[in-house]
Amino acid sequence: MTGAAVKAALGLGSNLGDRAAHIAEACRHLAQNPKVRLLSVSALYETDPWGMTEQGPFLNACAAMETTLEPKPLLEFCLATERLMGRVREERWGPRIIDLDILIYGAAVVKEQHLTIPHPHMAERGFVIVPLAEIWPEALIGGRSAKALAADFKGDPSIRRFAPGPELTAWTG
Ligand code: ATP
Ligand code: CA
Ligand code: CA
Repeated sequence: MTGAAVKAALGLGSNLGDRAAHIAEACRHLAQNPKVRLLSVSALYETDPWGMTEQGPFLNACAAMETTLEPKPLLEFCLATERLMGRVREERWGPRIIDLDILIYGAAVVKEQHLTIPHPHMAERGFVIVPLAEIWPEALIGGRSAKALAADFKGDPSIRRFAPGPELTAWTG
């Protein structure tokens, strides 16, 4: 990776098929992008669905990276990875093989038609904040740290630690 790199965080989610395998597969795609250096991936959390509640539980995780991709190309890479992995877009917040959201990109605030950073609603979403606080506790969302925001979800039964995150060494050396 050459050029100025920015630290960023992605949220990953899956609630169809082999959910853990899908999250691992998405991380492998990230790690194999020459413009991304994957730093860490959180544990997998099983979480109750949000928005559209008549669907199976999710596995959620967060990944921290350094990247030389600008926000828009990073979004395009996320959407391309979702497509490559066979995600079919039906209803918003509906069941999906994989969902990749850009949570934070350095200190950037982006408000464009197809891209909002920090990711909307993330401070209210325990399934985002809890894994994010695990790998990047000092990340700032609207002036509060992920660690401080995560304290509000301590003991929340809708967010359950499920399994360790994917092993990165196979891809990152
Ligand atoms: P939510 O965004 O509320 O978590 P979702 O992940 O189910 O819902 P999608 O259908 O995956 O929503 O994405 C819809 C669109 O959201 C994407 O095509 C993308 O253009 C837009 N979007 C805006 N900001 C972001 C972001 N920070 N990360 C990913 N997608 C984003
Ligand atoms: Ca999402
Ligand atoms: Ca999404």
